[in-house]
Amino acid sequence: MKYNDAFSLFKKDYVFARLKKKAEEMKSLGKEIIDLGVGDLSLPLFKNAVEEMVKAAKSLGDKKTFTGYPPSEGLLSLRKKISESYGNANIGEDEIFISDGAKSDIGDLLELFGKGISVLIPTPSYPVYTEASVFAGNKVTFLPCLKEDDFIPRPPFGKVYDVIYLCSPNNPTGAVLSAKVLSEWINYAISVKAVILFDGAYCDFSEENEPKSIYEIKNAKYCAMEIRSFSKGFGFTGVRCGYSVIPKTLGDYNRLWKRRLSFRSNGVSVISQKGAEAYFSDEGQREVATRIKYYKNNAEIIKIALKKKNLWYNNSCSSPYVFAKTPDGFTSEEFCDFAMEKYGIIVTPCNTFGEGGEGFFRISSFPERQKILRAADVIETIK
Ligand code: PLP
Repeated sequence: MKYNDAFSLFKKDYVFARLKKKAEEMKSLGKEIIDLGVGDLSLPLFKNAVEEMVKAAKSLGDKKTFTGYPPSEGLLSLRKKISESYGNANIGEDEIFISDGAKSDIGDLLELFGKGISVLIPTPSYPVYTEASVFAGNKVTFLPCLKEDDFIPRPPFGKVYDVIYLCSPNNPTGAVLSAKVLSEWINYAISVKAVILFDGAYCDFSEENEPKSIYEIKNAKYCAMEIRSFSKGFGFTGVRCGYSVIPKTLGDYNRLWKRRLSFRSNGVSVISQKGAEAYFSDEGQREVATRIKYYKNNAEIIKIALKKKNLWYNNSCSSPYVFAKTPDGFTSEEFCDFAMEKYGIIVTPCNTFGEGGEGFFRISSFPERQKILRAADVIETIK
């Protein structure tokens, strides 16, 4: 039997599966566990989104309104709303492709480029960029992002890559790419004919004065695709819905992706897509703002506790994660094991996000407030 060799290059379990397993072991020993590891949400779905999904399900259950497969590229009604939300960036509905979430597209879009391309990945960053690139048979180069540069990735002038992953606000560091930095990346990508895959999964967490989309920056439509999700800002981690933007000005990729979807996808659940439409109403936008505020306040509570312990953290206000330095003498994994075994707190070791994350850990602010307050109390007792 033949297996993909790439499997042997990675740890047996995806990091969160490993953390979960360990937590289960601890729980079975009767220990209290507060999970601040995985980036999953605690607030329930927005009621209007639920209503839209119920309506869609009922419509599918009625002979008169039943519809079968949706279009592979997504419902036009949802794509129109997304297109409008881009405002002056002028993204057409035929430049938008609905997905079942950002994670799938992060890997799948690589199919546009074929095997053996060179991929540049900032480190630390979301591990899926690396795993998906290696699985697709590509050559990965890491771009270190340093604490002294606020973990901002800088274009590697003088070197050439085919594809570059950028993420802002970044998971895990919380670093946000300013208009100036994005503009440098766009100029660089155009000069070396590279394509930027811009991951905006956390765009709802951006502050007013920060770019939410790469298309706010001049010429981005000539070098960048944007990947987005309804997961983090709208609570759709369980529902599953996201989208990617492939501008027509970016070579032939738009046509090719449509073609690829036609043979690899029968579309995304109509129910999910109808629920996602609720995001774009005024009430939906107010709901997103409320949810973001809740999670950001959670992050502030954690930061106060870390500050009391004199633990360094990246003071980003645009992320649901607190990216913090391990106490002296601990590697990322050692500290996370210590925090779980001694204090019952699960945090994510940031070496999981690549070498650049070694010596740091990530705390998720997605759990409910009570757990965050409890965790903050426990952090303050860490010795
Ligand atoms: N991109 C980043 C940076 C993420 O952290 C995540 C999930 O944690 C995703 C994408 C995937 O999001 P989705 O739920 O849309 O698949």
